[in-house]
Amino acid sequence: MDQAVTPHPKRVVVLGSTGSIGESALKVARDIPDRMRVVGLAALRSVDKLAAQAQEFGVRHLALSNGAMHEELRIAVPHAQVHPGEEGLVKLATLPEADLVLIAIVGTAGLRPALAALEAGKDIAVASKEILVMAGEIVMETAARHGRRVLPVDSEHNAIFQCLEDRDPATVRRIILTASGGPFRKLPAEQLGGVTLEQALRHPTWEMGRKITIDSATLFNKGLEMIEARWLFGVEMDRVDVIVHPQSIIHSMVEFIDHSVLAQLSKSDMCFPIQYAVTWPERVPNTLEPLDFAKLAKLEFEAPRFADFPALDLARRAGVEGGTLPSVLNAANEIAVAAFLERRIPFPAIWETVARTMEAHERIDRPTLDQILAADAWARGFAEECLVDGGEVGYGHETMG
Ligand code: NDP
Repeated sequence: MDQAVTPHPKRVVVLGSTGSIGESALKVARDIPDRMRVVGLAALRSVDKLAAQAQEFGVRHLALSNGAMHEELRIAVPHAQVHPGEEGLVKLATLPEADLVLIAIVGTAGLRPALAALEAGKDIAVASKEILVMAGEIVMETAARHGRRVLPVDSEHNAIFQCLEDRDPATVRRIILTASGGPFRKLPAEQLGGVTLEQALRHPTWEMGRKITIDSATLFNKGLEMIEARWLFGVEMDRVDVIVHPQSIIHSMVEFIDHSVLAQLSKSDMCFPIQYAVTWPERVPNTLEPLDFAKLAKLEFEAPRFADFPALDLARRAGVEGGTLPSVLNAANEIAVAAFLERRIPFPAIWETVARTMEAHERIDRPTLDQILAADAWARGFAEECLVDGGEVGYGHETMG
């Protein structure tokens, strides 16, 4: 006998609601209001946007990490409680009325709220790949200890999650992450040194925040995703592969031990993976644009240019050696990308800064959270120094763009 399913909205906190992922999440909330209700919103400093979101969704709990702007937000949204500082993120992540916490903060500030949410018995949906790269083992162990789920929002990992559907990791031969190849997929290696910030920010298929767009151009985004996949799906690094697929229609694939391959396909729109993370394990109808295979014409694949884009090899090494090395790679990359965004260093200096920082690091095996955070802080300092003494390694004082 068919059992009628009573729809009940999942009560969701969105950390990073004013960013690219956050705004897509709110689009999903508008699209499937009987399945998703927003109960908390957090940002760093975008007061006006956050206030407008709080008004629209009638949200009563807000957090703003930039302390100097709290009063402004309080005045703009008198009906809401504004939780102050980084502690405010933890407060939101542990709200008694929340079922799911979406972590969509750029960088590593989402780590403590993610762990707090799991410890408070909530599932988390993770867009912020940096936190799984830094502390994937700790995050997954915490989730297992509290019987909670870590639902991937990154489109590649969400695709793999859909293909795997809780199958035994032992049946997986390899995970195949697809990569668009970024704006410089076809650029000759000798021209990579002269690319401008504007060129690097022009992603061929996805509209995203600035940091991840630069990561897509260097291929560090794919490198971070390799490490993220390793933890999310419990496979070793040598079972995580990358293939360039310029159309970004296949979001990733899983090859099983019988050589069958499952893939997940959709238009390049982050609303697809966000919705699945929110409604999992159910599927519900929406107003998103479906695929028209006749119009697609062709799907192409090519091998990544490992030698010209060293991010993939650096990430593989960090993932294989593990310990504190992935957090060092991630932190050095954040510093280098920020410097590139400020036009302080040329494009290839991003790889060079990360490589030098990893080289200088004394790795700690099975680190505690404090040791991970210490390695992160050390790497940021070291990478900054690499930028400053760039003359020695042949970069650092050029102005780009
Ligand atoms: P954006 O830069 O567009 O947005 C970042 C969001 O985080 C903003 O809401 C920002 O607030 C907020 N934020 C930043 N620092 C803090 C802090 N310390 N406390 C509270 N809020 C903070 O980034 P994206 O949305 O592009 O990316 C978010 C994460 O998702 C990243 O980790 C990225 O790698 C990942 N991701 C993104 C994808 C995409 O399509 N964009 C795809 C897959 C993963 P404010 O507006 O006030 O600055």
